[in-house]
Amino acid sequence: MRIAICPGSFDPITLGHLDIIRRASLLFDLVIVAVTVNPNKTPSFSVEERVELVRRCTESFSNVQADCCDGLLADYAKEKNACALVKGLRAVTDFEYEFQMALINKQLNPELETVFMTTSSAYMYLSSSAVRQVAGYGGDVSQFVPPQILEDVVSRFSAERSQNNERECKRPTQHD
Ligand code: ADP
Repeated sequence: MRIAICPGSFDPITLGHLDIIRRASLLFDLVIVAVTVNPNKTPSFSVEERVELVRRCTESFSNVQADCCDGLLADYAKEKNACALVKGLRAVTDFEYEFQMALINKQLNPELETVFMTTSSAYMYLSSSAVRQVAGYGGDVSQFVPPQILEDVVSRFSAERSQNNERECKRPTQHD
């Protein structure tokens, strides 16, 4: 059984991610989408929420599972018996970092291959941070995220917006 892992922060999952996951599911027997935990970042969605959003978007793919990984990917891959990490590449700018990570992961787990998949041209500009930015200003993100999670994204960011507006209103005005 050939098992691949699609790792990422998925904060939140976008149509670009889903395209890579779908294409990987055609090449491998099982694809595990691993939501990675980065202690240096404060995500908009908790790790449990992100796993649930991924699960909902991928439930129609019979050979895709959602999970989280809070340690080294190289160890996680060993534990899951995976032979490959599948990463999407949007532009040359993604490459340098991904190339370095692929070499490090190879060093840590020599049996693990990193497979790079070129983005579909429709999604080459798309990132979770762009989604967060547009949604943060109340913009329409329906063309960026899967329909199954649109409501979650819209409501999370409208709640954040009203909290920020409230804070702005309470801030005392300065007089000089
Ligand atoms: P983001 O950069 O959107 O925050 P993640 O850290 O969650 O993404 O990335 C997980 C993986 O998905 C990475 O390999 C990343 O290059 C890939 N990826 C993200 N967005 C796209 C896209 N629009 N097309 C192809 N691959 C993508």
